[in-house]
Amino acid sequence: MDDAPRLGLPGLEPVPVAGCAVCTALGAGREEARRSGDLSRVSDRNVEIARHPHGRSGQWPAPGSAS
Ligand SMILES: [Zn+2]
Repeated sequence: MDDAPRLGLPGLEPVPVAGCAVCTALGAGREEARRSGDLSRVSDRNVEIARHPHGRSGQWPAPGSAS
């Protein structure tokens, strides 16, 4: 019986916040990286999305921390 390791469990990824330009860009970058098979970049984007602070609703002044 094969019990191969499984990577990229979709249920464990952070979800980009709707309406946040930074999260949207990070989410798009994550999907692009996934399509190209760059799992290390996918992981980087997940970390950035998870770390993006959202303590209030409203406009964000585009802090430029996406890179
Ligand atoms: Zn965000």
